[in-house]
Amino acid sequence: MDRRDFLASLGAATVAAHLPLGAAAPPVSSGRITLLHTNDTHSHIEPFEPGNGPISGMGGVARRATLLHQLRRELGPVLLLDAGDTFQGTPYFNRYKGRLDYQLMRMLGYDAGTLGNHDFDNGVGPLVEAMESMEQLQHAHPPFAFVNCNFDLKGAPALGRRVRPYLIREFPGLRVGITGVGVAFAGLVAPKNHEGIGWRDPYECLRPVVQRLREVEKADLVVVLSHLGYDMKGAAPDDLQMPGQVAGIDAIIGGHSHTFLEAPTRVPQGRGETLVFQVGFGGVNLGRMDFAMARGGLRSASGTSMPVLG
Ligand SMILES: [Zn+2]
Repeated sequence: MDRRDFLASLGAATVAAHLPLGAAAPPVSSGRITLLHTNDTHSHIEPFEPGNGPISGMGGVARRATLLHQLRRELGPVLLLDAGDTFQGTPYFNRYKGRLDYQLMRMLGYDAGTLGNHDFDNGVGPLVEAMESMEQLQHAHPPFAFVNCNFDLKGAPALGRRVRPYLIREFPGLRVGITGVGVAFAGLVAPKNHEGIGWRDPYECLRPVVQRLREVEKADLVVVLSHLGYDMKGAAPDDLQMPGQVAGIDAIIGGHSHTFLEAPTRVPQGRGETLVFQVGFGGVNLGRMDFAMARGGLRSASGTSMPVLG
């Protein structure tokens, strides 16, 4: 018997032999997904210059693109997500009013993002113009979606048309539901810059949306893009309190507080646990969370913060 016949005689074992070392053949009913994410990139197109302490030399959109390219080649299905405050922080924002930031997100293949307070820094008109400049880019990736469920956008129809309460993306073996929430404007955004937009309690708005994602949309994995902040010490709604206030969330990708976490915080909740993650600011890190599903629910979840280096 030659080597080929011998392998063929092993039947199913042959399949396993073709998988990379350490990878087990997944059961047919399972699915897996990796969430890659950023928050508070704040117009940091280039790496941080020397003199910025521990983040000197880190970040940069070109390096993030290289890292994403490598990860997409290595991993299976990936979603690339952002938790807001894309705007403000460098002269690139002053010059391009956020158009460059959003166009680069589109070119990097982001799937969805939410709005932070600084994304309103020039008002609703320029925000919509930046979104339009992104829509006009022809790209092979699926269309980008802005998600938010706690802004009342009836008084700002041009923005309302471009922000949806949630998004469903389907992958082999699982459906992912993605929604988003934004921080209160008071004290953060000048009234003229959020004209026509109402802010509502994020937990109250999330409950029916998450329930709909689970029960009607049949999402296996529910992800919240949150620009509330990691830990507001009880002064305002935040990411750490959210799992206890809203049942059924698997992952919270946070922003606003520029919190550097090495790995997701696991917060117990009714049906298991919620992974709460945030990776600093300025694009110096890329967050990664891996979820494996089996029939009937989540099988395993893990995550890590990956430095964006040259
Ligand atoms: Zn913010």
